[in-house]
Amino acid sequence: MITHIRALAAILGLIALPAFAQGVPASMQGKQAKQFFGAANVGSRQGAAPFGSYAKGCIAGGLQLPQTGPTWQAMRLSRNRNWGHPQLVDFVADLSARVAQLPGWPGLYVGDMSQPRGGPMLSGHRSHQLGLDADIWLMQPPRLSLSIRERENMSATSMRRANGAYVNSGWTRGQHEVVKAAASDPRVARIFIFPGAKVQMCNDETGNRDWLRKVRPWWGHHYHFHVRLACPPGAAGCVNQDPPPPGDGCAEAREWVSNILNPPKAKPRDPNAPAPKPRRELTMADLPQQCVGVLQSP
Ligand SMILES: [Zn+2]
Repeated sequence: MITHIRALAAILGLIALPAFAQGVPASMQGKQAKQFFGAANVGSRQGAAPFGSYAKGCIAGGLQLPQTGPTWQAMRLSRNRNWGHPQLVDFVADLSARVAQLPGWPGLYVGDMSQPRGGPMLSGHRSHQLGLDADIWLMQPPRLSLSIRERENMSATSMRRANGAYVNSGWTRGQHEVVKAAASDPRVARIFIFPGAKVQMCNDETGNRDWLRKVRPWWGHHYHFHVRLACPPGAAGCVNQDPPPPGDGCAEAREWVSNILNPPKAKPRDPNAPAPKPRRELTMADLPQQCVGVLQSP
């Protein structure tokens, strides 16, 4: 009935109908969503729920990974990105506990997860918006007693050589086992790591190879690997990425390596083609409508 009255009133021009675009309050319209999410410094007091997709979404009820646990330390605490879906927090704790059983590994250094309410970030990362992505440092932690300052300043060790075509001498069986443990976890959908590391693991794995399917070559990712969890069961507003193609993906990774070693010649640009559009910043209207509620929630 009320809708009818609104529609009728709109036809008669009595009220300006789209007072907001897709339920986005006027105060948020036309502004960059990252400004709002970057300013939220605690999770929302809501039930845990990711809304949207990995590079266009947010998280209700995000939890903070404790800065230090029995088998991990969160790094770069000033960024306040040690937040995520409860399943991600559990996953990091579980993985680090498994890693702590490897000889010489006290646990893990944990890099960026999500902002307290997820969403786009003021700097870095296009994904990590749902509270389901975590960057894990590849170096073997020398100790888990770093001060806050050390966690801010300590450099991570790169594991690559020849632009990522190969691993360097920092890579050991330990890294293989860490990535394998992560990829073998049923909660994990994908792992991103530099191509040389994937090929090294393809060459070194003599047992079951099923886990290799989830490990995908990607740019960067030689200081850390990136773990992406699947949408948790029952998370209706969460959009999974298509699963990786069947098979161990080793041929694709070898192709990445050969493209690094022998870069294909770039096609000359058509001088008459319009210049590529710069990527537009996300606004609240680009995100699922629930993300407005996530920001507005206490
Ligand atoms: Zn990442």
